[in-house]
Amino acid sequence: MKHSEARTVGFKAGERNVFFHILTACNLRCKHCYINTAQHGSATLSKETIEHWLKLFYEPSKKSNLVFLGGEPTLHPDLAASIKTAKEMGYSVTVDSNGYLLNDFLNATNPDLLDYLSFSLDGPDPEVNDPIRGQGVFEICVDNIKKAVALGYRVSVIYTVSNYNIDHLHRMIPLLNELKVKRFFIQVIGLRGESAKLESEANDQNEESLQVERQKWLDTVPEVAKQGAAAGLHVTYPKVFLEEHELFECAGEAAENYFIFPNGRVYQCPLCEDYALHTYTIENDELVANPDVNEKMMFPLKIAEGCVMNKLLQPDTIEYDDSGKPLSRISCCLLKKEIY
Ligand code: SF4
Ligand code: SF4
Repeated sequence: MKHSEARTVGFKAGERNVFFHILTACNLRCKHCYINTAQHGSATLSKETIEHWLKLFYEPSKKSNLVFLGGEPTLHPDLAASIKTAKEMGYSVTVDSNGYLLNDFLNATNPDLLDYLSFSLDGPDPEVNDPIRGQGVFEICVDNIKKAVALGYRVSVIYTVSNYNIDHLHRMIPLLNELKVKRFFIQVIGLRGESAKLESEANDQNEESLQVERQKWLDTVPEVAKQGAAAGLHVTYPKVFLEEHELFECAGEAAENYFIFPNGRVYQCPLCEDYALHTYTIENDELVANPDVNEKMMFPLKIAEGCVMNKLLQPDTIEYDDSGKPLSRISCCLLKKEIY
């Protein structure tokens, strides 16, 4: 069914989402890379460990969605075999790639096993994308999108919005149409890993923040999403700002999301990934609750600003009126809107 207005995609109780970082190594050095090896290690999981951990998180009574991530997941020589294992277990499987599709990835797996292949592009041309993701990356990524579409893969594109590229977001629509890509995910930049360092340098030097201000976001992103839908795209973007009447829900309490790292840390909230606040650790292929102070203890806290971890870890994103009241509550970073 077509929706002319964007709708909020509520958290689904009967679903489980597993975001599985099978390695942290990458062939690129994106400016805003969120990987933090000091927190997540530099291990590459063996094929056997991947299989054990997939079993650990598979829940037959729930729709289980799996995203293979890195680093760059196609750098892993056993990615194609692990996709097959996951699919046979019953997962819906997505791979998020930087577009390099290493290890002959398109021929090593096939569209029957892979539900979605997602490419990261942060600009509609090399002039915008490559200063963020690296010289020559746009061309390789776009070439591989074309190959994947031609082979029958279901392809989506992820665009991480920051002040570097928000003014070019609307130009993604003709590009995606030309590439015959139907699914477009707009992301908000998270201040983790390299982007946290960049943000702190920008603050020290009084330079422009990476994070987009509330009004600019509200003036730009929903409108581009609407234009994308009118042009035939299915667009998903983060809610970010809650309206007065809208209910605040923390995915840590209302949904089941697991962000797994190769050093065995398992988070439920992506905002916490730069800290040892993980809810669980995988030890000897078993899920063990983290006995120290952790994110799960924060989830029930109710504050006027909405998301408690946002308030603690990136307070500069919240704007207040003269009486000290937040202009909007910040929604859970996992809450999305969609239009198509
Ligand atoms: S953001 Fe992704 S593609 Fe870019 S350097 Fe980090 S892991 Fe690699
Ligand atoms: S982003 Fe905020 S609301 Fe969402 S899971 Fe984390 S703490 Fe909860």
